[in-house]
Amino acid sequence: MKASMPTTLMDGLDAIIEMDAPLAAHTWFGVGGNADILARPKTEVALKELMRRCHLLNMPVRVLGSGANLLVLEEGVDGVVIKLDQPAFTSWTLRAEGDANKVLAPAGVDVLKLLNACVREGLDGLCQMAGIPASMGGATRMNAGGKYGCISDAIHSVATMNDRGEVQVHSKSAIQFSYRHSGLPRDLILWTLLQLTPGDPAVLRKKMLEIYQFKKDSQPLAQHSAGCLFRNPAAEDGTRISAGRLIDLAGLKGFTHGSAFVSAEHANFVCANKGGRANDVLELARIIQDRVRESQGVNIEMEVAVWGRSVQPKEKK
Ligand SMILES: Cc1cc2nc3c(=O)[nH]c(=O)nc-3n(C[C@H](O)[C@H](O)[C@H](O)COP(=O)(O)OP(=O)(O)OC[C@H]3O[C@@H](n4cnc5c(N)ncnc54)[C@H](O)[C@@H]3O)c2cc1C
Repeated sequence: MKASMPTTLMDGLDAIIEMDAPLAAHTWFGVGGNADILARPKTEVALKELMRRCHLLNMPVRVLGSGANLLVLEEGVDGVVIKLDQPAFTSWTLRAEGDANKVLAPAGVDVLKLLNACVREGLDGLCQMAGIPASMGGATRMNAGGKYGCISDAIHSVATMNDRGEVQVHSKSAIQFSYRHSGLPRDLILWTLLQLTPGDPAVLRKKMLEIYQFKKDSQPLAQHSAGCLFRNPAAEDGTRISAGRLIDLAGLKGFTHGSAFVSAEHANFVCANKGGRANDVLELARIIQDRVRESQGVNIEMEVAVWGRSVQPKEKK
């Protein structure tokens, strides 16, 4: 273990604590090192207290969702990684605020399970998320989505918790959602309130399966990846250029570097072999950026979050 745990940090806290916790199994890449401390609070009160203590002790804090947009480096992660996977954070409420079309989803809710439940209940508005692995916190942070829309299309409001444990509710009109970005403060996302519309369950199910099939046919969903590694860069007229197309034009489809490779199916999916190295993925990302810049004259930025001791967590202010 790289750090000793201050005795006051976890004392009496209603949370599951794991020291020197391997993170690979918590991410879709399935690679990388350990967290000094992995904390899974059981209640909002415990979460609030944990955030407050980390702030007082000046401990770095990172929030882990379903790990579908995350690369953890071999060097591991200092401070505290918080995972909201206990029942207080994974159970949604239908008919929230007495409104038949509102759903309250805490940050640890599995978006795909919620999508299925909404379809069964005849609630429309989340089908665009079919085939996108995410927790509600991660999806809201990244404004996840694609060709059929993004999560912000269904959002009414979002609650965040800052490093002093204070909760703030943001109405959708106050949040600057844009392409794969929410303008929310870099705080922990506590819950997202969805505003859906009534729909026929059979029609919704068909729509969900069609969107899922489209993704399945065009992306290597079964490989160890984090979805698209790079953001689609903006053209001068504001439209987005496909980063996958640029990588393909650079001749990199199927290119391998150590245990990492560019998918032959979708060039913006960089995958890791089972038991591979995060550093190979990162090095391959640099090679791709260089080759695309040299051959196409375009800079492409990583969309995937990178965690490591040498990388400052963005959640900490
Ligand atoms: C096979 C595959 C296909 C994919 N397809 C798509 C796609 O079509 N469209 C798309 O947009 N994405 C896609 N992705 C990427 C991924 O699904 C999304 O980015 C998703 O939103 C990540 O959510 P997560 O819970 O896994 O977040 P994580 O990967 O756990 O975290 C991502 C970032 O969000 C932050 N975060 C997570 N939870 C919280 C919280 N509660 N509060 C504050 N910050 C938080 C983390 O700190 C980190 O910075 C795909 C990924 C895979 C593996």
